Amino acid sequence: MNGGRRTPRTREDGDVPMTTTAELIELSERRSAHNYHPLPVVIHEAQGAWVTDVEGRRFLDCLSGYSALNFGHGNTKIIEAAREQLGRLTLTSRAFFHDQFAAFAAGLGDLTGKDMVLPMNTGAEAVETAIKTARKWGYEVKGVARDRANIIVMEDNFHGRTTTIVSFSTDPDARGGYGPYTPGFKVVKYGSVEAIREAIDADTVAVLLEPIQGEAGVLVPPDGYLRQVRELCTEHNVLMIADEIQSGLGRTGETFACDHEGVVPDVYVLGKALGGGVVPVSAVAADADVLGVIRPGQHGSTFGGNPLACAVACAVIDILGTGEYQARSKELGGVLHERLNALVGRGVVAVRGRGLWAGVDVDPSLGSGREISEALMRRGVLAKDTHGSTIRLAPPIVIAEDDLVWAVDQLAGAVEDLAR
Ligand SMILES: *Cc1c(COP(=O)(O)O)cnc(C)c1O
Repeated sequence: MNGGRRTPRTREDGDVPMTTTAELIELSERRSAHNYHPLPVVIHEAQGAWVTDVEGRRFLDCLSGYSALNFGHGNTKIIEAAREQLGRLTLTSRAFFHDQFAAFAAGLGDLTGKDMVLPMNTGAEAVETAIKTARKWGYEVKGVARDRANIIVMEDNFHGRTTTIVSFSTDPDARGGYGPYTPGFKVVKYGSVEAIREAIDADTVAVLLEPIQGEAGVLVPPDGYLRQVRELCTEHNVLMIADEIQSGLGRTGETFACDHEGVVPDVYVLGKALGGGVVPVSAVAADADVLGVIRPGQHGSTFGGNPLACAVACAVIDILGTGEYQARSKELGGVLHERLNALVGRGVVAVRGRGLWAGVDVDPSLGSGREISEALMRRGVLAKDTHGSTIRLAPPIVIAEDDLVWAVDQLAGAVEDLAR
């Protein structure tokens, strides 16, 4: 491997563990469940869009922790907020108030344009919160008969890994072997308004969707889809829940992917980048007629809304408040997609996405997604395949333009390597 665009940094004694990559991988795998199949790189430190492994090799991070690192590794504003808070107060539980909570709730409420927020930690917890909220809203506000509520979800969805969420996954790996499954979900084809219209009945309390399906391969729905879903939900008194955990917070060139169609869902589900790549922070945002159905003792989390999480999320909200990152993602996204589209027909079959987010279908005869990721890694770019021969590219929004161009060149090179 000779990955890394820049000359490898010379290592000072004691700077990194004196263990080799192979040994660390072996030791990591020996005592851990194999629920992931990581690329064979052991990262030691990172700054901006670049990471350095234990051997001093540098790689361009084109995954960004599945968009949890939208604002880059070691973002000064976020790290400073965390550092300041770490030294003062990290946890109170919500049995008490703390002095970071009000700013967080108001900040996120303003960013989403919603009355209320409910903080959790992981994305899956926020999705669970949205599901519970929608059901309770259904019974208390819409008047659905007890235990009759259903929620319409999409084929090829990804909303997390809890038992209820995998119950309505259509991915055999994510779902298989984890039954019995939670009832109350109807799966319909993504991108079809008609399919939702046919599935809606009097007991439907919500439509839950990703405005762009990330794990499915960065699938962008047809133009007008989100707007029509919005209208349909309003017409039938059904909550539109947008899981913006991966698509939101600047990734697509807008604050939320729903913004591209001027759509405001009833419920936003947020996570990933909300924690600035530092701590897990997730949240549900909705108006009081929806989130108000949750009363004391009816839902919660020991760590949800903790002072450290709130301080970090406030820094993230401030960063988004300037609009700079959204604009940068839009602009660099133009460069990314133009360059990627030029590869179509040259080993690349199709390119999808918005802003600094792309799903690239490589000709499957050239190799699996895993093989392409490995070829990219040998060229100094870290990316991750989704399904089949699809590579997802989602670099931190702080990436330099020439680094981005270089990354696409490496993808072209990796495809050529495989074609040889
Ligand atoms: C990652 C993701 C989740 C789950 O988030 P976790 O923090 O891993 O639980 C849910 N929805 C979407 C769209 C995601 O991309």
